[in-house]
Amino acid sequence: MNRTSADLVVVGSGPGGAMTAALAAEAGRDVLIVEEGSNYTIDSAPSFSLAEMDQKYRNGGLNVTFGQTNITYLEGRCVGGGSEINAGLYHRPLATTLEQWREFTRIADFAPAQLWPHFEAVERECQVASFPGGNGPASALLRMGAGKLGWSTREIARFWRYDQGADGAFAGRRQSMSETLVPRALRAGARLLADTRVLRLDHRGGRVTGLVVLRGGRREQIEAKRVVVCAGAVQTPRILRRSGLTHNVGDSLRLHPMIRVTATFREEINDPAFGVPTEQVDQFKPDLTLGCSYSSIPHLALWMGAEQGGKRDRLRDYRRTGIFYVAAVGTGVGTIRDLPVLGEPLVRLPLTGDDLARIGEGLSKLGQLLFAAGAVEVSNPVAGEAAFRDAAALEATARKLPQGRMAVSTIHLFSSCPMGDDDRVTATDSFGRVHGFSNLYVNDASLFPMSPAVNPQGTVLAIARRNALRMLGG
Ligand SMILES: Cc1cc2nc3c(=O)[nH]c(=O)nc-3n(C[C@H](O)[C@H](O)[C@H](O)COP(=O)(O)OP(=O)(O)OC[C@H]3O[C@@H](n4cnc5c(N)ncnc54)[C@H](O)[C@@H]3O)c2cc1C
Repeated sequence: MNRTSADLVVVGSGPGGAMTAALAAEAGRDVLIVEEGSNYTIDSAPSFSLAEMDQKYRNGGLNVTFGQTNITYLEGRCVGGGSEINAGLYHRPLATTLEQWREFTRIADFAPAQLWPHFEAVERECQVASFPGGNGPASALLRMGAGKLGWSTREIARFWRYDQGADGAFAGRRQSMSETLVPRALRAGARLLADTRVLRLDHRGGRVTGLVVLRGGRREQIEAKRVVVCAGAVQTPRILRRSGLTHNVGDSLRLHPMIRVTATFREEINDPAFGVPTEQVDQFKPDLTLGCSYSSIPHLALWMGAEQGGKRDRLRDYRRTGIFYVAAVGTGVGTIRDLPVLGEPLVRLPLTGDDLARIGEGLSKLGQLLFAAGAVEVSNPVAGEAAFRDAAALEATARKLPQGRMAVSTIHLFSSCPMGDDDRVTATDSFGRVHGFSNLYVNDASLFPMSPAVNPQGTVLAIARRNALRMLGG
């Protein structure tokens, strides 16, 4: 076996890992980032294209949780993790959410006033901005439909940079980790080992001594004085469990269940020049968010998956069709178990009766909005059922959504290794150090005790910053 060594090994280069690595390298530590995915540039493939899904998504985007209703989940697998493929929508969580977390798992030094400076730093250093060139047609339509119903909407800022060209037009560039914190870590001396999968950690007497990785089809050993696992909410518990660490690890996964529908209008509403639509209906937050997604042909095909008939024609005429979503704060709590034979983890999570009622309520509201905005047809998220042509038919379905037959998905997963001082319910202490270990940490979305009730990346970054600075003694 080949041997490499580092003082600090960071597993995974998504938002949690990139923040940890950048701060540690800048503090003068000898840092090695080990990343399972490849090292692509942000423009290695057009955004939201099939080529991008091939390069940067785990299993091309096809992962499922099992339960009465299976939930499709998406994860990034490349340098930069989820930040390379996401819409970059940025939110701070509500102060009341953070207070709830603090009480739930007894997190020390976690008052909102102690956390806001970390969010401010993220907003400054990772380029959070609003599009200066106006709103695209899908966003305008969402706002118009909501306005007719008296509901409030808001344009959401993003991790994006907008540069104005000589012709006055704005060109946007996603400010993912491969554009921001990974280069910052490398400039400060961190090393990056891409295409390298961590299989397990070696440990003795409450100390990690190294990692076993798979690189180019061969097993190698990495010696480490300290390890921070940031492989995301599904893969982090998987690595820990494979290493024999099971105390509250992978027993409390939570997520935001989403229902996506495609809606077709008489006029063109899908203008790729405007990029990701950034308007959200915030009238029903935090429990429910309604919004629209970037509607490229591959993504339309992905979310039309459960539909019967007519798909080809609608894809040919894709500029009149957009993807719209309902995202809910889920109440189901799931488990993650490693399945060595299959090479994939087994993720089980119930979509509860409360979840069904909540997403049904959201779907019914979304239907009202879309038809008020002039939709001629809205797809049916129940597999095999005909599309809707009016709000009343949609509402009737939304009131009694059937388990097991709906296309439910998620892009927001967390809470699989919660942090806090109450070790009856947590896997790590209040700053991400794994219970019972002196040199092993988790620093990613797994740490959230509960849902952040907003798009999570901003919170992942802010908490990773807080915990990394603490670990580095700052
Ligand atoms: C399609 C999509 C859209 C989204 N849109 C938004 C949005 O608009 N706004 C928002 O706030 N959030 C959004 N999210 C969620 C956001 O991207 C995640 O919350 C965030 O990326 C989580 O960061 P993380 O560091 O916990 O994990 P990840 O970003 O998942 O990073 C984990 C990294 O670890 C690597 N890894 C995994 N296993 C191993 C292993 N065994 N060995 C080595 N490396 C490993 C992975 O390849 C990955 O690069 C979206 C997510 C997706 C998938």
